[in-house]
Amino acid sequence: MELLPVGELGTVTARQVAEAIRADTALVTIMYANNEIGSIMPIQEIGEICRERGAIFHTDAVQAVGHLPIHVQRQSIDMLSLSAHKFHGPKGIGALYARQGITLSSIIEGGAQERGKRAGTENVPAIAGMAAALEEACAHMSERAAKTAVLRDRLIDGLGQIPYAILNGDPLNRLPGNVSFCFESVEGESLLLLLNDRGICASTGSACASGSLVPSHVLLAIGRTADAANGALRLSLCEDNTDADVDTILKAVPETVFYLRSRFMSWQNGVKGKTR
Ligand SMILES: *Cc1c(COP(=O)(O)O)cnc(C)c1O
Repeated sequence: MELLPVGELGTVTARQVAEAIRADTALVTIMYANNEIGSIMPIQEIGEICRERGAIFHTDAVQAVGHLPIHVQRQSIDMLSLSAHKFHGPKGIGALYARQGITLSSIIEGGAQERGKRAGTENVPAIAGMAAALEEACAHMSERAAKTAVLRDRLIDGLGQIPYAILNGDPLNRLPGNVSFCFESVEGESLLLLLNDRGICASTGSACASGSLVPSHVLLAIGRTADAANGALRLSLCEDNTDADVDTILKAVPETVFYLRSRFMSWQNGVKGKTR
């Protein structure tokens, strides 16, 4: 298995994929859009290269489905994973698309009702909920994405004014609901707690890493220092957010960042004072 590095915007290029594919490459898998920093990968170009070179192309499109237009045939996608709760569907249900002609071997033993791929009875309410949520998301996708992107860009412009704030991810080619910054010399977990007190729900990066104080591998991969990666803030927006929400955040985040930095400075000065 070969892992491809990403550039400073957090994307993999089609050229990198082309150079990595060998005669015996069975599968290429590239996430559609990054969950922490929002960067969207050149999926169609990568798909075309994989198709040309005879490698199966899978994409983890969990962040993209319901938010970005996807066309598996046009984009030469052979397999695609999606998860319902990322587009307002129920938790605990997702789907794997596999184009006709792809044969999958089972990782676990399965029953015929799941085509031998897994055991268990289908969770029909969750499946129906996922389908309804997906229809709803797709029916309103372009106007919701446009509305959310306007809020996103206001936040990015505003938070970008904070000294030593670094925007993470691709400024242009970005999920409509993703805002990700690193604030140097700020402790991300403290920032989250103080924002939470002001009614703002945010994360430092990935929900899968919540409770972990290890700097995000994604932020390190795009070249952030450990100090910067420690001060990560991710805000996720959807069409239900408002201009007033953005105003609240644009007031709370700078105030909190300045407060934490001033505490940090006086702590540093205190330490220096003692050792002198
Ligand atoms: C949320 C997420 C997952 C995991 O999906 P769950 O259904 O929550 O397990 C996988 N990949 C990406 C990119 C995600 O954002």
